[in-house]
Amino acid sequence: MDHELPEYADPKQRPRYLGLATFMRADYAETPDGIEIGMIGVPYDGGVTNRPGARHGPREVRNQSSLMRTVNQATGVCPYDLARIADLGDIFAERPFALEGAHERIGRGFMDVVDAGVVPLTCGGDHSITLPILRAVGKGAPVGLVHIDAHADTGGDYSGSRFHHGAPFRVAAEEGVLDPRRCCQIGIRGTLYTPDMWEFSHTSGMRVIPIEEFEDIGWRAAINEAKRIAGDGPTYVSFDIDALDPAFAPGTGTPEAGGLTMREALRMIRELHDLNLVGADMVEVSPPFDPSGVTALNGATIMFELLCVLAQAVALRRG
Ligand code: MN
Ligand code: MN
Repeated sequence: MDHELPEYADPKQRPRYLGLATFMRADYAETPDGIEIGMIGVPYDGGVTNRPGARHGPREVRNQSSLMRTVNQATGVCPYDLARIADLGDIFAERPFALEGAHERIGRGFMDVVDAGVVPLTCGGDHSITLPILRAVGKGAPVGLVHIDAHADTGGDYSGSRFHHGAPFRVAAEEGVLDPRRCCQIGIRGTLYTPDMWEFSHTSGMRVIPIEEFEDIGWRAAINEAKRIAGDGPTYVSFDIDALDPAFAPGTGTPEAGGLTMREALRMIRELHDLNLVGADMVEVSPPFDPSGVTALNGATIMFELLCVLAQAVALRRG
């Protein structure tokens, strides 16, 4: 269709309430061919230990992400100028009632994406989906991790399973796809079942920055520490929306009081632009607990910031 206003030839320049709700209003691509960064939904919440609903996250984050424009005002970055970006749709578990089989299926989807040379930016889903993603991005060499979350997610067996959303980083480290000495976890807080619930983080050599230390040293020192620990090697970024204070993210399965502000989260993510990033995710938005949509909007905004630093990393590697 012809446009009376020539700028509307670019769909991303049209009014943001128009069109199909892809992530950030990016083009949809059926296959990963020729794509450098693929935004992918994983509508799966079979690993939650408390309130469910994150399976509805990708659809509502796509909806709220239509509010994202194309230019990052703070950094000047337009990710679409730096890399070929598309919404690759959803990777879903065809047999969702068996947790390990679901992860296996999700993992095969991400293997295809990674084998095609695509850097995945994923929207969960509960945090258990990060395990199959790490199996894909870490299959050649274990990756480092910048992990922002209220929970360390290095727990053990719970209700008879070790694959729930409170344990993906322990399983990934034990499987050798994650290098615990190159992991930093920021924002950890809340009550525990036992004092040693996150013992694996400490015994395996991960750096844990609880919210109290974060408050004392500030966002800049915290993220600089995470960057120092991740180093030059391939690094993954995982952002659990419950890292934010429930004031900013009420719509999540396991909220914990006393968390990060959005401003702190945005400033930290922007600092990651010069790491060797191989993928990122934003997980645990649960729309049934998010009547105002603010959690999905903040999740979409986190995803846009992650998209910007991933695009910068892709451009840096391209040289
Ligand atoms: Mn969490
Ligand atoms: Mn988590």
